[in-house]
Amino acid sequence: VEIKENYSLQHLNTFGIKAYAKLFVEVNAISDILELITSGFLKNHLWMVLGGGSNILFTKDFDGLVIKNSLFGIEIEQEDSNTVLVRAMAGELWDNLVSFAIKHNLGGIENLSLIPGSVGAAPVQNIGAYGVELKDTFESLEAINTKTGEIEVFSNDACKFGYRDSIFKNELKGLYIIVSISLRLQKNPIYNVEYFALKEKLKDNSKPLSVSLISEYVSDIRRSKLPDPKVIGNAGSFFKNPEITLEKFTDLKSRFPDIQSFDLPNGDKKIPAGWLIEQVGLKGKQFGQTGSHKNQALVLVNYGEAKGEEILALANLIKKSVLEKFDIELKEEVTTI
Ligand SMILES: Cc1cc2nc3c(=O)[nH]c(=O)nc-3n(C[C@H](O)[C@H](O)[C@H](O)COP(=O)(O)OP(=O)(O)OC[C@H]3O[C@@H](n4cnc5c(N)ncnc54)[C@H](O)[C@@H]3O)c2cc1C
Repeated sequence: VEIKENYSLQHLNTFGIKAYAKLFVEVNAISDILELITSGFLKNHLWMVLGGGSNILFTKDFDGLVIKNSLFGIEIEQEDSNTVLVRAMAGELWDNLVSFAIKHNLGGIENLSLIPGSVGAAPVQNIGAYGVELKDTFESLEAINTKTGEIEVFSNDACKFGYRDSIFKNELKGLYIIVSISLRLQKNPIYNVEYFALKEKLKDNSKPLSVSLISEYVSDIRRSKLPDPKVIGNAGSFFKNPEITLEKFTDLKSRFPDIQSFDLPNGDKKIPAGWLIEQVGLKGKQFGQTGSHKNQALVLVNYGEAKGEEILALANLIKKSVLEKFDIELKEEVTTI
């Protein structure tokens, strides 16, 4: 493997932040990763894996080795009368995997169309959109234990998926490099069209429901709502939607009758973080080269020359303001380096 020095990451993160990696390597095969482990290189350096850089905010240069994951390939592993097991390598674009499913008329991930980033990062935060999460079709993944060099298999349960969460963000953070994932997709899918915007869009539709139709509609909605990182730097939702107890919700409702919420299966409530940001007067507000997006308060943007620290300062201002007004602690969805 070729290790480069002082490598610019600006084109490798969707915020478009100017940051440098002290060391940088692109891995094209599992053997490349094993070489980094057996040579002792990983043990002796601070390191991180980078996929599409669409969920990362660099607030400083990375004083170690950035491993750019370029393991490619998508294949059908197994098939029975109702389902197909599809395996994709971690460096593939997530949306290429969605396109593969749609081309083969397989259901389960059509609602996750157009989410940026790589396949390998999808289980790290259990990506989700329009009422569907990765965990709904996830069968297993293979990851290299960087301490032993062994390839280990993680089942759905072993990944401990939660809302934008998994074991790889917690107990096993920084220990494993995910090399592939396997999803069980449906030949005769039951479509999930309950999400409000999708339901609305399907109202006047006369065409029969299909994975490709849903993918097309989800893509249309996303393009109309979310700023394109190629035009204006961003990493999608900066914060998770906070979950609060019914008791706390009832108290807030008495003071803020317009408060929005979604019911959770355990009786708790999920509050749209975008609404909270709007209520503290920060929606669409620009601060120098950064700001909250005018249509999507939850999306923090780089107007061109923002530094990571400026975006982080805005994120902290939002957190402080929401905590003061609502006594709710916003948690980041984006990983800050
Ligand atoms: C416009 C926009 C819209 C978005 N919409 C959504 C959405 O609807 N739903 C949603 O869930 N997310 C959304 N996101 C966030 C983002 O697309 C996802 O989090 C995506 O999974 C990140 O993939 P990535 O390859 O870019 O990860 P990166 O940003 O490169 O990495 C994210 C984290 O995963 C780790 N990681 C990456 N690859 C590996 C690997 N192979 N092994 C171990 N760890 C790894 C990294 O070290 C890092 O900690 C959006 C982002 C943008 C910019």
